[in-house]
Amino acid sequence: MTAEKLILDGNRVAEEIKDRLKERIARLSDQGIVPCLATILVGDDPSSETYVRMKGNACKRLGMESIRIDLPESISTEELVAEIDKLNADPGVHGILLQHPVPSHIDERAAFEAIHIDKDLDGVTTLGFARNAFGFADYPSCTPAAILAILDYYRIPIEGKHAVVIGRSPILGKPVSLMLLNRNATVTTCHSRTVQLEEAVRLGDIVVAAVGKPKFVRGDWIKPGAVVIDAGYNTGNVGDVDYDECLQHASAITPVPAGVGPVTIATLLKHTVDAAEKRA
Ligand code: NAP
Repeated sequence: MTAEKLILDGNRVAEEIKDRLKERIARLSDQGIVPCLATILVGDDPSSETYVRMKGNACKRLGMESIRIDLPESISTEELVAEIDKLNADPGVHGILLQHPVPSHIDERAAFEAIHIDKDLDGVTTLGFARNAFGFADYPSCTPAAILAILDYYRIPIEGKHAVVIGRSPILGKPVSLMLLNRNATVTTCHSRTVQLEEAVRLGDIVVAAVGKPKFVRGDWIKPGAVVIDAGYNTGNVGDVDYDECLQHASAITPVPAGVGPVTIATLLKHTVDAAEKRA
């Protein structure tokens, strides 16, 4: 008999998060406040354009405001920082999201650091990251927070479990590793120099894939009964795990699309409302 598989439905989790925001947005509206997220897009990368549009549309659907700043590919770091400073100074803007990657001639770190901590809703500044690492961030990085929200929604235990994260980027692999550690998981973080990666992944009760390579994680790497979270999003709606293969071994798995992606957006909206309430 095949054990029942749990498909971790990100749309369901996202809807619950957004439903809870509606009343809070209405209360803010009574005070004349509309939560506002500013997104900055540098250049015209089509995927980045899509992400920015999706975030703007999600704001509008909930009656929130979104400001979109489109900047030319040729912009300098100084000019980009000046744009961010304008948004920092604008009391009507509650959060600033710089869509990345930015063109390679720009100092991305300098641009992220320019975002005021009160408007850093994605934990991209050094201080935002550090607060998240200590476990007391107001706005932990959105995709890692979304991953934990999915695990919590489905009451998947974290404490005492061995979590294996593949990827160590500052916006995803590293913060999610720290957040799982803060929830008392034993965490292994893998990266491109990890030797015997497959063996490391086989230890995972929870496997988080954040690699940026389509169908990278194979089914026979997954310990029977493990929970697989696919944070990846590649061209053609393909995740970082081989879904069909991993489904055979996992007890629970997030699909792509409709897994981590919609919960990330819902988390960003939640952080924007949190920031607006804080200001109010
Ligand atoms: P990234 O900055 O490119 O980082 C990729 C990580 O994977 C790096 O740490 C890299 O290791 C590691 N890696 C690369 N090749 C590897 C290999 N052969 N073996 C083991 N590790 C390897 O990517 P990211 O921004 O973290 O994004 C990761 C994925 O998540 C992408 O698919 C992206 O589209 C997706 N994403 C989704 C959301 C969402 O809302 N769902 C949000 C953000 C990103 P090194 O550090 O050694 O180079």
